[in-house]
Parts: sequence; C-alpha cells; structure tokens
Amino acid sequence: MDSEQLREYGHRMVDFIADYYKTIETFPVRSQVQPGYLHNLLPDSAPDHPETLEQVLDDVKVKILPGVTHWQSPSFFAYYPSNSSVAGFLGEMLSTGLNVIGFSWVASPAATELEIIVLDWLAKLLNLPEQFLSKGKGGGVIQGSASEAILVVMIAARDKVLRTAGKNALGKLVVYSSDQTHSALQKACQVKVLKADTSTNFALRPELLQEAVSLDLEAGLFPFFLCGNVGTTSSTAVDPLADLGKIAKSNEMWFHVDAAYAGNACICPEYRQYIDGVETADSFNMNAYKGLLTNFDCSLLWVKDQYAVTEAFSANPEYLKNKASEANLVVDYKDWQIALSRRFRSLKLWMVLRLYGAETLKSYIRNHIKLAKVFEQLVSQDPNFDVITPRIFSLVCFRMVPIDDDEKKCNSRNLELLEAVNSSGKLFISHTALSGKMVLRFSIGAPLTEQKHVKEAWKVIREEASYLLGK
Ligand SMILES: *Cc1c(COP(=O)(O)O)cnc(C)c1O
Repeated sequence: MDSEQLREYGHRMVDFIADYYKTIETFPVRSQVQPGYLHNLLPDSAPDHPETLEQVLDDVKVKILPGVTHWQSPSFFAYYPSNSSVAGFLGEMLSTGLNVIGFSWVASPAATELEIIVLDWLAKLLNLPEQFLSKGKGGGVIQGSASEAILVVMIAARDKVLRTAGKNALGKLVVYSSDQTHSALQKACQVKVLKADTSTNFALRPELLQEAVSLDLEAGLFPFFLCGNVGTTSSTAVDPLADLGKIAKSNEMWFHVDAAYAGNACICPEYRQYIDGVETADSFNMNAYKGLLTNFDCSLLWVKDQYAVTEAFSANPEYLKNKASEANLVVDYKDWQIALSRRFRSLKLWMVLRLYGAETLKSYIRNHIKLAKVFEQLVSQDPNFDVITPRIFSLVCFRMVPIDDDEKKCNSRNLELLEAVNSSGKLFISHTALSGKMVLRFSIGAPLTEQKHVKEAWKVIREEASYLLGK
C-alpha cells in the first residue's frame, strides 16, 4: 500500500467515477448483454505479471460497463432504489481505507462506539421507543442486509423459546407472516404464510393471525415468531402493527417489524404514523441504503433485548479473549451477527448524517414521494392504465387494463410491455404479481431522478403500450 501510488491512482479513479456519473444517462439503464457475454471477452486465467491501471480501466469501459445495470441512473425505477451520494461514497472510501475488522470492541474501539452512537441517532430520528436505544438493554447494529437482520433475530427468538420449551420443541416451532412478506423470511425458515387482505393494500389481518395461532396451539405447536411488514416489497403494504403486536405479546411470540424500504420515509414526521405500533415489537429493521443516501451495504437493526441476541450468537474462543470484553464493559458486535468479521460501516452513515443533516434527508425523501404522485397522476389519467394499489410512499403499482375482461391476455400484455420498455434501455422498471395480476412497479428513489425523467419514462411506457395495442 504505497501512499504515493494511492494518491495518484486514487485521484484517477475518482475522476473515472465522477465522469461515470456525468455521463450516466448515455448508458442503457438495464444492461442489454446476453448471459455469458463476459466469458469471451476476458482471458481464461489471471495475469502472471502486473498490468497498468490504464489497461484495466480501458477494459472496464469496453467490457465491464456494458454488463452493468445502472442503478444510479436517474431513469432506474426497478425494484427498490440503492442510494449513492458523495457523503456515502466518501464514508465508504474512508472505511475501505482504514480497512479495520471491528468484530470486538478492542479490535477497533471507534468502529463499535460510532456504530452505537449513529444507530441511536437514527433511532431518535425515527422516534423509536426508548427501549431500542443503547442506554438500556436495547440497541442497534448495522447488518449487511435485511435478510441477515431477519435471520439474526429469528435465531435469537428461536433460542429464547427453546430455553424454556426445551430442545424437543424445535420441530414444532411456527413462524408467521403475510404472503406479502419478503422472500428473506423464507430463506431464514419455513413460514406459515397468511393470505394478505386484498381489499386493504395487502396487509395482514390480525383475525387471521389469531385464528392460525389458536389452531396451531391446539395442535401442540409453538408459535414463536411473527414478522410484520411496513412497506412490502411488492406493493408497500403496511401491516397493522399495534394489533399484531398484541397477539404476539399474548402468545409470547417474538415480533419483528421489517421496514427495509419504507422505514426510511418514517424519519419524516408526516410518515411516522406508518410505524405506529412499533413499540409492541421486539425488533425492527430498515435499510439505510434504500433511501437515506447511504451507499450499499447498510442495513439497520434494532432490538429491545440485546441479550437475547448475544445469548444466541456469542462465542468466545481463547484467541478473542480480552480484558474489556471479560469485564463486560463493552459491546462486541461479533455477538450480534452471523459472521465474525465486520466492516466499519457506521462511518458512511455518520458522514451522510453530518454532511447532509436530517432536514436534507427528509426533503430528499419527500421529493421522491412527490415525484411518485406525479407519475401516479399521469397513469390514472390514461384510460389504458390503472393504478393497482393505493400509493403510500414512492412506489406506484400499475398495469395496462384488461380488454374484454381477459385477465390472462392482460397479464401477458403487461409482461410484453415490461420487456419492451426495459429493452429500450431508456428506463428500467420491474414487476410483481398481486392476486394473480401481473403488475408493473415504478419505484422512484435514485438520487439523480428529477421530474423530467419521470415524465420521459411515462412517455416511453405509453408509446410502447400504444404500439402493443395497435399490434
Ligand atoms: C429490500 C427488502 C428486503 C431485503 O433486503 P436485503 O437487504 O436485500 O436483504 C427485505 N424486506 C423488505 C420489505 C425489502 O423491501
């Protein structure tokens, strides 16, 4: 790691990235390459001798960028956004520069302490109940992804229930969520999925949960974990947290709230209502990389009882023993996650919060929601299209309407439209299925998106649609 080489190459790399952002609109938003495209472009084995930065950057331009889908393009409207910002980028750079592995406090005290402080800051911005703050039994931790966050709390909850119910209960544990919950939960375990209420924007009905729990209890099973959603991935459905929390509590279940995307908006007082009831939860997660100008990865998890987590995850081999940990004076984040090693991620969130300030972040989020309203308006004024679920945040779910009630044809026409729009390279949207209907998702949240990009996107969608209708 030669300082002068870093200085020289680093400046060139920053120039390269700055130029990329400057010209980002010249690329097709969704990469248009075919599977396996890179195989023919690169050699079969690694070079034996050093090559120049020039040679590598040339290859990046010619061979890599064509295979990149430009998530930071202002016309990226697929999935949910992944934000990039100057502050987030600088924080990431600093973190990579220091390259510490903060698994325990002593391994880099600042990495642990800054994470605790920044997570408290964010908990306050979200107005989370005090129990989630670090001063008592609770606290926050940064995970790589929401999927990891969910797996962590589920394992904590499982171990907790097994401590009282006994190991034999393992095969009888039951996890509940609506059928709209993210596939991350299905990766973590087998879930009892409850059909979401199609009349209320696909939220989970408490009566249905209560019924399922009662039946399972009668059958000798152990209901132990409930995952509620604030902002589902398909359609931003919001589950009634307070009512779900009551059921969880009376059955001694762990209640987790997944607000990976929509949680970001809840730093605005006018959207905070969507996590009302979070006080009944045991844990809560939110992906700062999806909406708070923090570069991936940065997934925030708060728990009310950190000991439930550390009991499940702590391991203290001789080679990690140290005075501070043994005296119980410190947090060792290795005991709050699956892996041992961990990045200094709090630096970028800290830099984002300091260089922008909470008010800027709020207006940033409000602007995306305002743009989503513009798009929603445009769609609802067009007789060939329908908005499918009520828009709450900055995702609009819509589709071309069926002709002669032919739902099957309508589904295939919408998929055709999706492919036509994305093949144009002018924008990128994604889709989902809601009650068997193919639905297009227009998700606004890229930092560079302005109203003109939204209007241009709608123009392309309409043109492709009228072409399909004319065929
Ligand atoms: C994005 C998302 C996830 C998955 O997030 P990862 O960080 O990719 O694991 C989970 N739940 C919801 C509601 C999401 O929107």
